[in-house]
Amino acid sequence: MTFAHFSFDVDADGIALAVWNMAGRSMNVITPEVMGELSAIIEKVAADAAIKGCVIASGKETFSGGADLTMLEGLGGLYQQLKAKDGPDKAMQALFDESRRLTLLYRRLETCGKPFAAAINGVCLGGAFELALACHYRVGASDNDKARVGLPEVKIGLFPGAGGTTRVSRLMQPGDALQMLLKGDQLRMGQAQKMGLLQALAPRADLVVKAKEWIKAGGSAVAPWDVDGFRLPGGLVYSKGGMMVFPPANALYRRETYDNYPAARAILQTVYEGLQLPFDRALTVESRYFAHVLLSPEAGAMIRTLFVSMQDLGKGARRPAGVAPNTLKRVGVVGAGFMGAGIAYVSALAGLEVVLVDRDQAAADKGKAYSEKLVTGQIMKGRATTAERDALLARITATPDYAALAGVDLVIEAVFEDRAVKAEVVAKVEAVIGKETVFASNTSTLPISSLAENSSRPEQFIGVHFFSPVEKMMLVEVIRGAKTGDRAIAMALDYVRAIKKTPILVNDGRGFFANRCVLNYIREGHLMLAEGVPPAMIENVARAAGMPVGPLSLNDEVAIDLAWKILQATKKDLGAAAIDAGQEALLDKLLNQHGRQGRKNGKGFYDYPEKGQKSLWPGLADLQAVKLDPDTIDKTEMKQRFLVVQALEAARTVEDNIITDMREADVGSILGFGFAPYTGGALSYIDGMGTKAFVALCDKLAARHGPRFAANALLRDMAAKGETFYGRFKPETKRAA
Ligand code: NAD
Repeated sequence: MTFAHFSFDVDADGIALAVWNMAGRSMNVITPEVMGELSAIIEKVAADAAIKGCVIASGKETFSGGADLTMLEGLGGLYQQLKAKDGPDKAMQALFDESRRLTLLYRRLETCGKPFAAAINGVCLGGAFELALACHYRVGASDNDKARVGLPEVKIGLFPGAGGTTRVSRLMQPGDALQMLLKGDQLRMGQAQKMGLLQALAPRADLVVKAKEWIKAGGSAVAPWDVDGFRLPGGLVYSKGGMMVFPPANALYRRETYDNYPAARAILQTVYEGLQLPFDRALTVESRYFAHVLLSPEAGAMIRTLFVSMQDLGKGARRPAGVAPNTLKRVGVVGAGFMGAGIAYVSALAGLEVVLVDRDQAAADKGKAYSEKLVTGQIMKGRATTAERDALLARITATPDYAALAGVDLVIEAVFEDRAVKAEVVAKVEAVIGKETVFASNTSTLPISSLAENSSRPEQFIGVHFFSPVEKMMLVEVIRGAKTGDRAIAMALDYVRAIKKTPILVNDGRGFFANRCVLNYIREGHLMLAEGVPPAMIENVARAAGMPVGPLSLNDEVAIDLAWKILQATKKDLGAAAIDAGQEALLDKLLNQHGRQGRKNGKGFYDYPEKGQKSLWPGLADLQAVKLDPDTIDKTEMKQRFLVVQALEAARTVEDNIITDMREADVGSILGFGFAPYTGGALSYIDGMGTKAFVALCDKLAARHGPRFAANALLRDMAAKGETFYGRFKPETKRAA
């Protein structure tokens, strides 16, 4: 038998080997064609008496990343078409039938009467891991550090709907299964084996041999749940054990998600209901929930932003055409403080040589010591070896000598946020680097074009703005100054790609994109406090709106003195009317009267005891002139205020031509400051409710809370024309830079 995407051979022992190796793709993905071929393989194995069983392996470096998401998006489109034609019930039935084809295919594999084994050589995720779970035996690579298995669907608003949820909850204790499914973690092979998800490990070269041996030794073709007398690992749902799991799981789910994520809810429902049913009925329940989740606006928005757009941007969607790709080898980092030390670490981690410069040797060494601390932490967690630590540290040269920067591909400065200091650094760096070397500033507030005035080659000058903590935050904002050239943009984007983060390319302007939006969020928290809303309520409602941390917590992390400095700089540059007097008065009291700087001095909106948990500072109550009765406060409106104030600012950055590609505002808002991910990002939030409804909401909030909620002209125009951001500014539409 010959296939386009599999090779298929039967050895002398009668054991078949199907090697999945998709033509024309670097990764295997599940497509309708792959499903068709897999079905033919299963039927061949089932029908041919000479074949004892079958091993499924991969011909690529990884096993497979899972289903082709465009296929799932296509199903959403199918539903809409059928709904218009035949009504919602028939459309739903068709979607259900269509979306469960994979479930039925895997179930057929599991019950065809012949044993199947999966040889998992590398990353095996989502629908591909569901395939492996349907096999009767799974062996994973013991010698591939990058290999992972997992069901990460929940991260893009979906859940494992091809039997994965039903099988995982029968393979392990329901509490562990729920945790795995709800977190969407990717597991290392050893971990997966301990959890009972893999039966064995073997070096890559022996995987197929090991899998074949299992079949030869009479491996069973019956899944555990198809054996008479099968007992659930955690006992029945309606049992003492079950009661220890499900009610708390529901509470945890609410606490973690505030019920904002239909996919997470569906996981709980599927596991809870499924475990009370026979296996095939449970699969049907899983499929029903899957079809509904697939249609949810949350899944649509999350797939678009957190999968499609993120992948496109990561692969250089905004890279200027015609500039040859740069393979970076050495980078310079000037300023080995909080940010510089982190930038040096992520660069060295990605295999780049780093020259880390500070004012004296001690300061440079201190910056390098940060890498040592981080990599040691990784070793403790079993995620790095001592050899990797030594190699990483050997790649970082810490020195006060600017001359060491000669020959680097890119220099990133992260010195004090001070024009004079930055100007001095530009001059010193440019004296030693080549004419073609790109110079990037990590400034958070100073416009790139104005810093570039200190440069003798402004076309090589660019902003590369990291978020803290650098090693955790996945976004990098690349800022194009008025004179920045394409080469510098390409270099910056290639660098961000090399360190495996996601770049957004924005134009220059005060606060660029992310900080503009997030400062509004923090300010809204300040203003609510000044209005008399209880501080705990501010924090909790913000999280209920979908933000990962409350605005007061966030301000403590960023530092209250920094918020104060930014406010004062804005006042100086744009006048007193540009800032909010209530916010200024609050910060003045906190910082200047009480010396509360945030987490960094252990005193902010919260107290940070040496030991134990942080707690809201009781003194906040004394800063409130009025105190509102929590029962009289409209929580829905509070949520709207938090999200609208940020989304509106994102819309203004589009009008101001800071953001030119809508995908970047969405990806940037989620990765940069955690804008309610279930919305798909700040602009998808507006598109999701419709510009007209959004403008009406702005008008309502502006009437109650002031002009900071006034919709801008662009939004009004879009509302009048019934346009969306993605409709009006299509990614392929080039806008003037
Ligand atoms: P920091 O004070 O921790 O570090 C600055 C470092 O620069 C210090 O180690 C200092 O010794 C060094 N330095 C000062 N002058 C120097 C010179 N002439 N030559 C060499 N080194 C010199 O500051 P930070 O928080 O790391 O901020 C650095 C930059 O990053 C600033 O522009 C800031 O706006 C920006 N930034 C900060 C954050 C943040 O969260 N802290 C986030 C994004 C961007």
